[in-house]
Formats: sequence, C-alpha cells, structure tokens
Amino acid sequence: MNKKRKAVVERAMHYLVHNSNMVTVAVMCLVHATLLLFMFASGVTPLVQFNVLSVIVYIFCYLLCKSGYTLPVFISIIVEVSAYVVVSTYFIGLRCGTYCFLFSIVPIIIYLGCFLFKGAMRWIIVVILALNFGLFAVLYVMFSEVPPVYELSPALRLFLVLFSSFVMVFSTIFYNTIYIYSSEVEVNGLELRNKQLSADACEDQLTGLLNRRGFLPAVEELMKDKDSRFCISFCDIDNFKRINDSYGHDAGDEVIRHITSIIRKEMQGCDICRWGGEEIIILMKDMDIAAAGEKMEYVRRYIEMTPTVFFNKRIPSTITIGVSMKNDSHNDPEEVIKEADEKMYYGKQHGKNIVIWENE
Ligand code: GH3
Ligand code: MG
Ligand code: MG
Repeated sequence: MNKKRKAVVERAMHYLVHNSNMVTVAVMCLVHATLLLFMFASGVTPLVQFNVLSVIVYIFCYLLCKSGYTLPVFISIIVEVSAYVVVSTYFIGLRCGTYCFLFSIVPIIIYLGCFLFKGAMRWIIVVILALNFGLFAVLYVMFSEVPPVYELSPALRLFLVLFSSFVMVFSTIFYNTIYIYSSEVEVNGLELRNKQLSADACEDQLTGLLNRRGFLPAVEELMKDKDSRFCISFCDIDNFKRINDSYGHDAGDEVIRHITSIIRKEMQGCDICRWGGEEIIILMKDMDIAAAGEKMEYVRRYIEMTPTVFFNKRIPSTITIGVSMKNDSHNDPEEVIKEADEKMYYGKQHGKNIVIWENE
C-alpha cells in the first residue's frame, strides 16, 4: 500500500475507533429508515409506525453520543432492537429473518459493554448476552408454527432475510475490525514507549551522550574478544568548580554541552559517555595508544582554542585527558577505565590541560 493510501486508511480507522458509537447509531438509523420504506411499500402499517419511532430514537441517541452519554445509548439500542424483533416477528413472521438483528447487536453489547462496565461488573454483559439469546429461543419456539398477521410475498421475505443477515455480518466485521485496529495501535504505542524508556535509561539528559548503563555493555562486549584492540580516554574539565562559581551553574551546563559537541564532532564512530558531572570517557575501537593519544591531543587543543559562548560571554575552558589501552592484564572494563582515570589524575597534578597517554 502506498504512503498516501495508508495515511487515508489510518485516518479513517482513527475516526471509526473514536466515533464508533456515533457511526453505530447512524447506521442503525439508516437501517430503520430503509425498513420504514420497505414496510410502507409492503403496507405493514404497525411496522411503519414502529420504524418511525426507531428513527426518532436513533436521532436522539446520536445527540446523546455527541454529548458523551454512552449508557443511555447502550440501553436504547438493546431495548429498541429487542422490541423491534418481537413486534416484527409477531406481524410478519419468523421466516422474514428479522431475528438476525438480535445477533447483529452481540458485538455492540460486548464492545460497548466492556467500555461501560469494568472488572467484576462485566457479569452484566454476560447476563445481557444470555437474555438476548433467550429472547431468540423464546421467539423461535413461540412463532415457528404461528402464521404472521401480514403474509409477505416470497420475494419480499427473501429481501428482508438478506437485508437483516447483511446487517448482522456488517456489524460483526465492523466491530471486530475496530477492536483489532485499536489493540494494534495500543500494542505499537506500548512498544514505542518501551523503546523510548530503554533509550532514556541509557542516555544522559544534559548532553544526550550515553550514561554508564548505556556505555559499559559496549566495552564489556569488546573485552569478550581476547584479540580486540581499543583505547579509553578519560576527560575531565579543568577547574570546573571555578567556572560554576564565576559564571553560574547554567553557564557550567553550557560549557559541558559545548565540550560534548566538540568531542562528538571530532570522535565520530566512537562510543562517548558522560561518566560523571564534568567527566567524559571515550571508547576508541581498533586504535593503538599512540594514535589515540595524538587524536586526544588534537581534541584538547581544539577545546582550549574554542571558548563557550554564553549570553555574550566567552568562557574559556580546558580539559585534562588520560588515555589507556586494553591489554592482557585487564580483566574487566573498570580496570581499563581506572588506568585512564589514574593517568588523567596524574595530568591534574602536573599542570592540567594536558593529555597523558604514556605510562608515567
Ligand atoms: P579539577 O580541575 O581538579 O577537575 O577541578 P574541578 O573544579 O573541575 O573539580 P571538582 O571535582 O572540584 O568540581 C567539579 C564540579 O562540577 C563540582 C560540581 O558542582 C560541578 N558539577 C557536577 N555536575 C555538574 C553539572 O551537571 N552541571 C554543572 N554546572 N556543574 C556540575
Ligand atoms: Mg571530576
Ligand atoms: Mg574537573
């Protein structure tokens, strides 16, 4: 199905699901208007009068639906259809098949009933369905051998049987379709929300970088492969407390975002994680320590030369970086990260704004 047609179907289904009561009542009104004409043409005056009454009932129900009153509509449909079936069976006989209307409201009883009655109250739906079937059984027993008041011709009877069966089948298809559609929409919505929640759980809110939960599995995966080669860079913003104290916490946040954006731009293809407040660590796959050290030296200089602009203020900042490379002595990701952290700490003690990648 092409996109445009799919969108039209989606919109139509959305409308039907959210206006199913109004559509039902409108269809019921149309059915009775058709029956009204048919009974008028057949000269069955009592059913002409009944159908006029039914049309009025459904116009009233339509207005009730618009105002959000579902229970009176639910009751009206059940009472009207039951009464119509009894009266029409009495006047034109069982063989005209109007009892099919009793089966046509079964999906309505279930669908609307489940909307109206929750939990244990749903016994009401079971009772209504039992009464509905009971009414059919009683009518069948009582009228199967009784001649009707108005004897319609076989052609007219055939029309009525086909018409009422069609209404029954239509109702079943309509309600099952909107039930399946709304279930699918609900399931898709839940899957989407689950995905979003999992993504949120692995992401840092301020920077959009991975958090520890999102980052560590990537390193663990690499550690499983004995021959894998990767480096970890541990970056820490220098004198960040002073930046906060001098420019304010919001400016501090902007500095973190600015440095993040530089690292993200320069370290494409790497997993980047906000490890803590002003600490960022980078996983560099398939890189040896010299290449990683040089790359980080470039990033350090870039950050040093690019101050953060915050409300017309230029806030200079620098970072200190420690780089470690995974080797056979490392047993888990924390050990590689710890080594990078120790190198970064060494850099802090030796003037800051520096990359330490060789073993000191
Ligand atoms: P050093 O050069 O030794 O790293 O000094 P420092 O001031 O950067 O380090 P210190 O650990 O003393 O201070 C880090 C500060 O970072 C303290 C904390 O209030 C601040 N901080 C942590 N998370 C955030 C954050 O999300 N936003 C802002 N604005 N500040 C933060
Ligand atoms: Mg720190
Ligand atoms: Mg710091």
